[in-house]
Amino acid sequence: MSVKPVIEKNVPLAGLTTWKVGGPAKYFTIASTYSALKSAVDFAAKKNLPIFVLGKGSNILVSDRGFPGLVIHLGAEFQKIKFTHNGVVSGAGVRLYTLAREAARRGLSGLEWSVGIPGTLGGAVKTNAGAQSKNISITFKKLTIMDFGGKLEVLNKKQIVFDYRKCILPIQGIILEAELALFEDNSEKIQKRMSEYFDERKIKQPLGYATAGSVFKNPEGYVAGKLIEECGLKGLKVNKAQVSTKHANFIINTGGARADDILKLMNKIKLEVYEKTGVLLEPEVELVGDFD
Ligand SMILES: Cc1cc2nc3c(=O)[nH]c(=O)nc-3n(C[C@H](O)[C@H](O)[C@H](O)COP(=O)(O)OP(=O)(O)OC[C@H]3O[C@@H](n4cnc5c(N)ncnc54)[C@H](O)[C@@H]3O)c2cc1C
Repeated sequence: MSVKPVIEKNVPLAGLTTWKVGGPAKYFTIASTYSALKSAVDFAAKKNLPIFVLGKGSNILVSDRGFPGLVIHLGAEFQKIKFTHNGVVSGAGVRLYTLAREAARRGLSGLEWSVGIPGTLGGAVKTNAGAQSKNISITFKKLTIMDFGGKLEVLNKKQIVFDYRKCILPIQGIILEAELALFEDNSEKIQKRMSEYFDERKIKQPLGYATAGSVFKNPEGYVAGKLIEECGLKGLKVNKAQVSTKHANFIINTGGARADDILKLMNKIKLEVYEKTGVLLEPEVELVGDFD
């Protein structure tokens, strides 16, 4: 039986991102079953709309004008987790941290580094999320994807190019689930590592503020935050967007910032760092929608 997806119009996206900025999605749906997802994809194809897959919105800057197509967020069917003795098959809509915590409880190691990353598994695969010199590609085995024509495919690691905060898939589509290899370890030891990593984050990062994590990638041989700090840019503001005084590679929405403010601040940082050091910063966050 095919389930008709509920597709809403003009849905504000700001509240669905960690930066809390951005305009509405022209169309928005939470796809809770395969068949609803397929119908949503068909809907976009029929109307010739671009599709954006939204995880937790923790690595994106949505334009103040919003997204002129269909935004798809994965619901219940894609939030299931199945552990095995040496791995996990998880829906792409599951929060990475939930996965790491559940794995730790079962004495399965391999995801401790992800503590404090607020995204979903799908977002983590797409951005090759990482920390503590590790990333999702290390544990990754395979994924199931629905292409924008509604066809399901399984892709193994050999078919995917993982790079620094980048994942090149041979097919554009919606990642539905992924299988990760984990290994057995003492549950308490795993949990101890996780809390140590989280303590490190609390010291270094402005947690509790509206941010999107690191704004720029670390250029080869440099640390972006250090470059920005050395250029004296901590605390720099454009309206309500501010370079964190705690971690220079984080931009905080101090309340009521617009995407344009954040983008202007990013451009200022880029320019200053380039003029002072000759190093060109590349955004780690993805711009979604149309910007000037
Ligand atoms: C406080 C904070 C700390 C952070 N720390 C880190 C860190 O240490 N390391 C790190 O790597 N990142 C970090 N991030 C950034 C972010 O959390 C990660 O990039 C995360 O993996 C993004 O997941 P998401 O679900 O939020 O994706 P989104 O931001 O919603 O989307 C990111 C990209 O993934 C795509 N995508 C999402 N889901 C799917 C899917 N199911 N199928 C296909 N494409 C999909 C989107 O279309 C988009 O292109 C941090 C962010 C914050 C706010």
